[in-house]
Amino acid sequence: MARVVITGGAGFIGSHLAERLVQEGWQVVVLDNLLTGRRENIQHLLDNPDFEFLHHDIRQPVRIEGEVDYVFHLASTASPVDFVNHPFETLTVGSYGTECALNLALEKGAKFLFSSTSEVYGDPLVHPQIEDYWGNVNPIGVRGVYDEAKRYAESLVMAYHRYKGADTRIVRIFNTYGERMRLNDGRVVPNFVSQALKGEPITVYGDGSQTRSFCYVADLVEGIYRLSQTDYHLPVNIGNPIEHTILEFAQLIRDLTGSRSEIVFCEFFTPDDPKQRCPDITRAQELLGWEPKVSLEEGLRRTIADFQARLVGGGV
Ligand code: UDP
Repeated sequence: MARVVITGGAGFIGSHLAERLVQEGWQVVVLDNLLTGRRENIQHLLDNPDFEFLHHDIRQPVRIEGEVDYVFHLASTASPVDFVNHPFETLTVGSYGTECALNLALEKGAKFLFSSTSEVYGDPLVHPQIEDYWGNVNPIGVRGVYDEAKRYAESLVMAYHRYKGADTRIVRIFNTYGERMRLNDGRVVPNFVSQALKGEPITVYGDGSQTRSFCYVADLVEGIYRLSQTDYHLPVNIGNPIEHTILEFAQLIRDLTGSRSEIVFCEFFTPDDPKQRCPDITRAQELLGWEPKVSLEEGLRRTIADFQARLVGGGV
């Protein structure tokens, strides 16, 4: 039975990956410092003998007893609100954290997968974004702590692969949504869904003409899983190639929740908010035979139901 370590495994995406790998029959060890991860996300796995949770900050060297076959390095803040509230943690989890995770993989002779981001493309001048595009990032902007940490981390992963023989993979994750996102994490899906359910104004930043492409979390996890089974070392985009303006997205969420919230236009939360984002997924299609399966409407219905249950329960 394969044994895997997932850093950030109590986070939104990490907990879904943990669940999936347990279902695949793997032993899963989750490392998380619970800065933005939550114990509630993995509560249902804690009694499973194939699951283990270690409260550990991956920016510190880690010792794990026994064999490890795979390290999935997902630990990171992921929301612009978190980049502002935790700028140094964001920088150091990408830098020291990635180094510690890579060292664990090397020490154990384990395979390694790094979760990178569409933010490496910054405010992209090539559209849709192909993996060979180098990006348009403001290194000193508010978002730079995340973008540059992830870019540095990709560089580090490739150097470990080229010069130390690490067996690595890099997934570039585009906007992803689904159950267990923190209600107050400040990203567009939690904000709009919570606002719509509470009847509060839906806060569109700017004029809402900026675009994003939203991938349901189960589709993303399938893509990550398939990539983990390959020997492909260059980055692979995983995301949904159907693009929407943020204003359209606000209207869709208002319709799906049956809300009467008004849509209001506000200042951007961060400067350098990318004007357009959409993955070119040709590489994932050809390499992994992967493309998203869950429609935005269906994924949002599941997400809204999860948010509704947590809001009623007074959760976070
Ligand atoms: N956004 C918005 N209202 C909100 C939160 C976000 O209009 O309450 C916009 C934001 O300006 C961006 C898009 O939604 O253009 C996606 O933002 P998010 O923070 O979810 O992720 P990003 O893709 O910017 O990292």
